Amino acid sequence: MNGSIWVLVEDQDGVPSGTSLELISAAHNFVEEVSGIAFSTNATALSKALEPYGVERLYAVAAERSSLPGVVLSHALAQLLAQGVEPPRALLCAQSFTGRDTLARLSVKLDVPILTNVVNLIEIDDDLRAEHLIFGGEKVVTSQFTHPGLRLFGIRAKSFVQNETHPKEVVIEDVNVEGIGPSNSAKVISSHSEERSGPKLDEAAVVVSGGRGLGNVENYSLVEELAKLLNAAPGASRAIVDAGWVPYSYQVGQTGKTVKPNLYIAIGISGATQHMVGMKGSKNIIAINKDKDAPIFQIADLGVVGDAHKVLPKLIEALKQRQ
Ligand SMILES: Cc1cc2nc3c(=O)[nH]c(=O)nc-3n(C[C@H](O)[C@H](O)[C@H](O)COP(=O)(O)OP(=O)(O)OC[C@H]3O[C@@H](n4cnc5c(N)ncnc54)[C@H](O)[C@@H]3O)c2cc1C
Repeated sequence: MNGSIWVLVEDQDGVPSGTSLELISAAHNFVEEVSGIAFSTNATALSKALEPYGVERLYAVAAERSSLPGVVLSHALAQLLAQGVEPPRALLCAQSFTGRDTLARLSVKLDVPILTNVVNLIEIDDDLRAEHLIFGGEKVVTSQFTHPGLRLFGIRAKSFVQNETHPKEVVIEDVNVEGIGPSNSAKVISSHSEERSGPKLDEAAVVVSGGRGLGNVENYSLVEELAKLLNAAPGASRAIVDAGWVPYSYQVGQTGKTVKPNLYIAIGISGATQHMVGMKGSKNIIAINKDKDAPIFQIADLGVVGDAHKVLPKLIEALKQRQ
């Protein structure tokens, strides 16, 4: 495919998010020239971090730090295109808060549609089509744009694998946004990073998740203990997030995180389609559930039919003895 693809790069002080790297790798499946756009506090560090991924240039957007990133990024993108910068074939954004906000605002500014919740991209007739999961991941739908011009895609995390490619020095292009207008009058007044020990849920090689079958919030400590012993990230079903046992950042599933670890252990989780869509790509799945007919067993590689309150302490004890 001719032309370039741009990726909205999200970062934390110069460290790109895993999903941004996945999107850059995805773009390389279709075009040689991949560029990024970011509203970063450290564009120099970010450009260095992007070098192994073959990024041509990084549009580093400068604006008041308290501005909402989606407001600034959508304005910067529209401004660049209005200034006559060669438009990319497509813009890939993560299905994150900032990604969705940027896409929605840009769609209105440019009067072009968006395809969201994308889990795969396919090239057909020199154009990109998108695959999306519907009915909780039961069916795959393929969509295409019918108008000419820029394609806007919102892509789910873990849809693509991040791959390093021929390293390239990244050219930084500063973009100073001007005259954003009243949409820039919402301000970020504080932010904090949720404290979490151990690996991040969406990057961990092992995930141990608990569900309503744990019985009560106190028993979630068994999940955390097992996770610690396995150097795993603790996760959760929505049922126990909604019950307030654990924060939303722990939720795995359609409206939570998508995980693809080497090992996923589901404890007291029934296996609703909305949960499974977020973890069924795991390499190995172990389920512990007292109901032998629980749907989770249909996708489990190893199923333990038993009471979590009995199985978990024994498992923890056995692992402790091994160490
Ligand atoms: C639009 C929408 C989006 C959603 N998004 C998500 C999402 O992102 N993630 C998500 O997880 N859900 C999501 N849900 C909710 C989902 O449909 C289920 O309600 C939820 O996943 C159920 O959580 P659970 O398996 O913990 O609880 P339950 O379905 O109540 O299952 C509990 C399981 O524990 C077992 N159990 C009970 N006692 C024990 C014991 N002592 N030992 C072992 N096992 C035991 C039971 O047999 C049962 O299988 C969504 C729903 C909707 C409508």
